[in-house]
Amino acid sequence: MAEETMPSPIRQKPVYRFAPSPNGSLHLGHALSALLNHDMALENGGRFLLRMEDIDQTRCTPELEQAIYDDLGWLGLEWERPVRRQSEHFDDYHAALDRLIEAGLAYPAFLSRGETKTIVRAFEAQGTAWPRDPDGAPLYPAIDRQRPQAERAAMQASGRQHAWRLDMEKAIRIAGSKLFWRENGDGQTGEIEALPALWGDVVLSRSDAPSSYHLSVVVDDALQGITHVVRGMDLFHATAIHRLLQQLLDLPQPGYHHHRLILGADGRKLSKSEGSTGLSSLRSEGKTPSDIRRLVGLL
Ligand code: GLU
Repeated sequence: MAEETMPSPIRQKPVYRFAPSPNGSLHLGHALSALLNHDMALENGGRFLLRMEDIDQTRCTPELEQAIYDDLGWLGLEWERPVRRQSEHFDDYHAALDRLIEAGLAYPAFLSRGETKTIVRAFEAQGTAWPRDPDGAPLYPAIDRQRPQAERAAMQASGRQHAWRLDMEKAIRIAGSKLFWRENGDGQTGEIEALPALWGDVVLSRSDAPSSYHLSVVVDDALQGITHVVRGMDLFHATAIHRLLQQLLDLPQPGYHHHRLILGADGRKLSKSEGSTGLSSLRSEGKTPSDIRRLVGLL
């Protein structure tokens, strides 16, 4: 291959993205994420993309999306257009899901949230804790994974609603060797070993939404050529799932930077309903974009 056509990591422009869900308004935590992505892109001669993670069409609205553009514009950020909206790319996520189904790595999951809760409660009533994921949610019971093929087919044929879940044990086996990701954030750094087993059989698509966050985030990061994922520390452990899905779907792996979180007065992570730290209320109180940079510790 002639040298000038050879792909070179040195010549590749870094690509950053801020990927909010328009299901609420932006707060100081989002501002830190957006500003970091934007500033790093600028410092490194890279590109800054914005992505609307609006898979959940029941909670995401055009008004909230517009408010995000307004807040980011007010902060002084500029991003490339058009903005990728996940709701316009369901085919991409379906194709990825189909690959996992064809490889025998995904199974239809019929249990509702309520049924799962009942199973977990009944089990814990006997005095043993049900295993939980790093976010504290109970792992999905094995019932659907272990369901005999004929029964599974009959349930699907009857039109019963179901999600698709990853057969985690099998996926880890197929992925082969241990997986790592490159971390350069505010906590542990270096080559981090991915431990996706901690999450159990994660959801890939829901009965009421055609994809899951985990599946669409890895598909989009690959399709948009993202080289650097800069996001909150709350997604540090979930990166293990993303690394595994990248491996299974032959997707390139970006580098990761998980940044500190901005906590509320109660010491907890900010939520989207947090009025006092919402960017629009701070703006109407007369705060300036520089005040926001100061408040999130960037000035
Ligand atoms: N949409 C996610 C959120 O708003 C961010 C996902 C990501 O940066 O990977 O928390």
